Amino acid sequence: MLWLLSVRWLLQLDTYCLRKNTLENDLNTGLFVLQSHLESMLGRVRQNSTTLQRFQAFEMRLLNLNSLADIIDHILEDARHHFDLDVISLCLVDEKGEIAKFLNEGCYECSSKKGLIFLDNESLLLLTLGSAAHPYIGVYKNDKYENFFSEFEKKPASVAITPLNRRGKYSGTLNLGSYEADRFADTMATDFVEHLVSVAGVCLENNITFETIKRTSFIDSLTGINNRRFFEQRIGEELDRCQRNLDPLSCLFLDIDFFKLVNDKQGHQGGDRVLCAVAGAIKTQLRSNDILARCGGEEFVILLSNVSEMRALEIAERIRKTIQSLVIKLDENSISVTISIGSSTYLPNSAASSTDNDISPHLIKLADSALYKAKHKGRNCVENGGVVLEKPAMDIVTAF
Ligand code: GH3
Ligand code: MG
Ligand code: MG
Repeated sequence: MLWLLSVRWLLQLDTYCLRKNTLENDLNTGLFVLQSHLESMLGRVRQNSTTLQRFQAFEMRLLNLNSLADIIDHILEDARHHFDLDVISLCLVDEKGEIAKFLNEGCYECSSKKGLIFLDNESLLLLTLGSAAHPYIGVYKNDKYENFFSEFEKKPASVAITPLNRRGKYSGTLNLGSYEADRFADTMATDFVEHLVSVAGVCLENNITFETIKRTSFIDSLTGINNRRFFEQRIGEELDRCQRNLDPLSCLFLDIDFFKLVNDKQGHQGGDRVLCAVAGAIKTQLRSNDILARCGGEEFVILLSNVSEMRALEIAERIRKTIQSLVIKLDENSISVTISIGSSTYLPNSAASSTDNDISPHLIKLADSALYKAKHKGRNCVENGGVVLEKPAMDIVTAF
């Protein structure tokens, strides 16, 4: 009997030991699984933190840029390397063509920028992304997304097309593409990309607004040509450039003859229309890089870079004839006006040490005096004020 009890007890002990071992093994396996989960989670946290740092660094740089051209370059060029992308494009809705215009005016060649796309309106974006403006992340479909990557011969396999918004409307999209099919998957979290695009959108919007305000502050609201403030800023820059290249710079002062009579006969509104027609006609006679500004009531000024004294007189005469033959249609009748022009030219000399501060008042004064002479000669004519060669010896009182 005792013997039987002992065997039973031994068997129970054995079973207990077996269970204990199994439990220990199970615990060890569980611990191992937990540890590897933890490691993979830590790996992902580290990866996310690196990604976050990369995005933050990119965004900080974006926030510190202060020109539209630099922001576009940073997005198109630096982002590709920074995020290891194969293709990237930026669509901007530019209804009036103003964004492209002020970029081009700032010598930024939009047409040579691969991936920079201007849209006349937001209809393509509405069609592709819908009115809710959610980003699309996933497989590249040629029929739907071709317009965003049309400039790239090799199309991406997966894309992230993220909308830029301006006051509830599309202002564009930032389009990222990869040749790897699983780089942008529809299961992917979009937070980082959406944050980046929001920052990019704000930077673009700020700079577009700034450029627009800057542009309008340089535009005469009546005629649409540049104003005197613009001329005053540009004359210094033009003189610097001409001094550097040893190119001549000519200046024309123009004044409509007997304009007070036009106002008296046609009323102020009629006079305004004449001013617009004259400004438009002068513009047709100039190159795109010439500077034309309205500097007072019925007075205009022109800067002709790399134009000699004789050539400036020819151009002035051509403008005078154009205005003389211009027929301006008003409500009840048509009228013609004439214009008097004074010309002056700066000829840089390599030995001269003059700065634009010395030259510009002198150049302006010579053209203004020549205009005064033209008025005295009987109007509707061109007078030559001569050449500014060196630093003027006397103090000049500017015409403005
Ligand atoms: P002159 O041949 O000597 O230049 O004679 P003028 O009559 O053209 O010159 P004056 O300086 O006596 O008159 C210029 C006129 O231009 C007077 C002013 O009322 C008018 N004027 C100035 N600014 C504007 C404007 O924005 N619109 C209109 N309609 N008239 C303007
Ligand atoms: Mg005048
Ligand atoms: Mg006048």
